[in-house]
Amino acid sequence: MTTPAFDRRSFLATAAALAAVPSIPASALGQATPAVATPAPEVEGPFVLPPLPYAHEALEPAIDALTMRIHHEKHHGAYVKNLNAALKGLKVTSNIDALIADIESLPADKRTAVRNNGGGHANHSLFWTVLAPPGTGGEPSKELIAALDRDLGGLAKAKETLSATAMSRFGSGWSWLVVTKDKKLAIVSTPNQDSPLMGKSAAETMGTPIFGIDVWEHAYYLKYQNLRADYVKAVLGIANWNEISKRFAAAMA
Ligand code: MN
Repeated sequence: MTTPAFDRRSFLATAAALAAVPSIPASALGQATPAVATPAPEVEGPFVLPPLPYAHEALEPAIDALTMRIHHEKHHGAYVKNLNAALKGLKVTSNIDALIADIESLPADKRTAVRNNGGGHANHSLFWTVLAPPGTGGEPSKELIAALDRDLGGLAKAKETLSATAMSRFGSGWSWLVVTKDKKLAIVSTPNQDSPLMGKSAAETMGTPIFGIDVWEHAYYLKYQNLRADYVKAVLGIANWNEISKRFAAAMA
């Protein structure tokens, strides 16, 4: 049982439209789907907190039920609430990934709020779906295994690099497995709630995230206190490779 983290049909339609026009780089995603149309008063924010695709206790012992409840309802819930508040009065795409990929098209006084809260919404919406109850996440598809071998030295080495990247992120942020615009796997890190979709600059994104590890203390402090390495190892142990493989296939299409 999974819940789509975003409007995948819309996202794929955008990707298909871009693929049909090879001269347009992936970084032009925002130009293909303008994030902002004309201001419209009385428009409620379009974003809602997605339900978890499993019970709060389903990820134990890797992640405890209380951490899951607070993380989902309070932290993710606050990102959604604050995002909608920031966008009040603007007519925007309801595709969160398209929105955060084109922050520069938003009014200047909205960009920081959308970067932090839109990023938080996008990142957590992905995060819940790429974890699975212990023993149920399956294995990477043969296509994903082949790409891991080719680009990252294999699955075991990729897990090591994801872990090292998570450990070296100073303060709060994320460690990601992404598909780059030239269809290679890469492991990157972002600070705060930045998403790889936001890019290193307006001209170049880091890629499409297919797996991420949240290394904000709110993700692990109740159970692991300061032991981030133990938490990261536990998260890698409950990775939902079935879902990650689906996201890989979509990003490669
Ligand atoms: Mn978090």
